[in-house]
Amino acid sequence: MLTQAPRGTYDLFGSDIRTWQMIEKEVYTLMEEYRFQEIRTPIFEHTELFQRGVGDTTDIVQKEMYTFLDKGGRSITLKPEGTAGAARAYLERRLFADAQPTKLFYLTPCFRYEKPQAGRDRQFYQFGCELYGAGGYMADAEVISIAYSLLTRLGISNVTLHINSLGGPQCRKAYNQKLAEYFMDNREKLCPTCQERLNKNPLRILDCKSPVCQEVVKDAPSTIDNLGTECREHFDNLTKQLTELEIPFVIDSGIVRGLDYYTRTVFEFVCNDIGAQGTICGGGRYDGLIEELGGDPTPAVGFAIGIGRLIMAMEAIRGKTVWKEEADLYIGHIGDSAGKTASRLAFLLRSKGFRVETDLMGRSVKAQMKYANKIGARFTLILGDTEISQKEAVLKNMADGSTMQVQFEDLEALGAAIR
Ligand code: ATP
Ligand code: MG
Repeated sequence: MLTQAPRGTYDLFGSDIRTWQMIEKEVYTLMEEYRFQEIRTPIFEHTELFQRGVGDTTDIVQKEMYTFLDKGGRSITLKPEGTAGAARAYLERRLFADAQPTKLFYLTPCFRYEKPQAGRDRQFYQFGCELYGAGGYMADAEVISIAYSLLTRLGISNVTLHINSLGGPQCRKAYNQKLAEYFMDNREKLCPTCQERLNKNPLRILDCKSPVCQEVVKDAPSTIDNLGTECREHFDNLTKQLTELEIPFVIDSGIVRGLDYYTRTVFEFVCNDIGAQGTICGGGRYDGLIEELGGDPTPAVGFAIGIGRLIMAMEAIRGKTVWKEEADLYIGHIGDSAGKTASRLAFLLRSKGFRVETDLMGRSVKAQMKYANKIGARFTLILGDTEISQKEAVLKNMADGSTMQVQFEDLEALGAAIR
């Protein structure tokens, strides 16, 4: 137990963490361009927030949350997704009072008690965007274009955008009734959870993973065939705009998403190269969420990308990226006084942006050089008593073996030599 991480978790280090950092950098660049602001909300929230914000009848709330009582007896839940916390902050911090729309993004760990498998972990990471205050289809297009741009920039060409519309509350009412009737006729064929859902929220059944339910769902009436005029227009305009932006998509009436408060647009980016968990990105419009949490009715649209699955899709195309780690300079030293100078030089050079290491292990010079090789140092500088008294030492270029004498106290000259 002591040396074993909990099931469904992983450690990130070495080349993998470099890949993550590269993706995070791409995210930050993109978000600057789109002018979205980062938000960091707590890892845990009051359980009620997710019950309300994600929805009581969802898989997340019914089965997957890490919920516990804290020492004060409050029910606390580790965030299973990023939207609810962002929406809570939007209300609590009165972000609606600023110039609208409010455009937020997050990079956050999420926690769900699920059966671990490829692409499904208990702690995973999301990059997500939330756009509040704009109800038109252009906002949907803008948000979808963010996810599309990120995938494109990362060279992930093996994904397809699936879009659908669930309609608004008006069309949903009529549709729910139709759907409930259909499922009622097929009641015995549904899984026990869905038989229960039938009365509370028949729409949820469309998203059930159980094969028996999926069989029934195949022939169920679809939301997109049951849209009112306005929702139909919203959807048609969105698809036209995506075409205008040259973002390829397929209309897929099977996309219903796992959250309760989606309205109108829903979409997923799906990769077929990474196994059963192929949905890299899920998103859509949730115009009912802010009101559900006690705010004024506020349109909202967003998405979340699972970073782990994103990397799986990336690696399916170009293989694992192995990042070469290298230092600019390794300062070897022998003797007390040289050690102090090496430490000071390293300190000063780092402040000028150089990547520098020096011996901390008390190794022999030979062992120090071996280490310098191992870390891929581009240059080495060896200091001993003589070098210290003469303020001059040999700088070696490790790539071609060439050497030169440098007056190492002249940092400008030393810096120029290793640039
Ligand atoms: P799925 O249908 O695969 O369970 P979901 O609908 O529960 O996905 P969302 O809540 O929409 O997923 O989360 C958005 C994204 O977060 C997913 O598309 C996926 O990339 C990622 N994600 C969700 N759950 C996990 C998990 N347990 N492990 C790793 N990534 C996950
Ligand atoms: Mg899920």
